[in-house]
Amino acid sequence: MLVVEDEKEIRRFLRSALEADGYRVAEAETCARGVIDAGTRKPDLAILDLGLPDNDGVDFIRKVRAFSTLPILVLSARAGEQDKIDALDAGADDYLTKPFGVGELAARMRAMTRRGARTAESATTEVVFGDVRLDIANRRVFRAGDPVKLTPVEFRLLAHLAVHPGKVITHRLLLREVWGPSHTDDAHYLRVYMGRLRAKLEVDAAQPRHLLTETGVGYRFVP
Ligand code: CA
Repeated sequence: MLVVEDEKEIRRFLRSALEADGYRVAEAETCARGVIDAGTRKPDLAILDLGLPDNDGVDFIRKVRAFSTLPILVLSARAGEQDKIDALDAGADDYLTKPFGVGELAARMRAMTRRGARTAESATTEVVFGDVRLDIANRRVFRAGDPVKLTPVEFRLLAHLAVHPGKVITHRLLLREVWGPSHTDDAHYLRVYMGRLRAKLEVDAAQPRHLLTETGVGYRFVP
């Protein structure tokens, strides 16, 4: 576990919380030091503050992504959504806004670790949530055992979210993956298609439990 954070108080808080959970913790106070530690210490996960003294945390993400798939959880003191979007687009896996609770931090870290383990095992072929079973290999969806008709675009959108459980995926990344690189500004497509998926797959489309909106940022699938 690598903590890249310049504020001593927060490092101390994270260290005690993480060590209580059995993690071994390395600390870096600057972006440059963090990049070196990510390369040499090979941590399982990094917790990253965006406001670092020598450089923006997004710079850490870009540099680390050049050589590693290390899961990165961003801590942002900034309320602005653009910071989160920039961090996620650069390759961060998730974010928490300060102040945050230990319980929430631990839950996010567990989700990231599970995801990492699964990615290492094999490609996901089936995802189950609620009464829905998504057969990715055969491009079929069942609800309570009955086939559900999805359009190819609806299927691609659902599959892209479903193979990244718990991960926030930005509008921009989803549009690029599902519609292609020339559509990265067409966020209204997403609203329409997410509405259709929720109507077909959620118990209450107005209060989705699996296909969640991250306001202003993107979407998150929760199994
Ligand atoms: Ca800071």
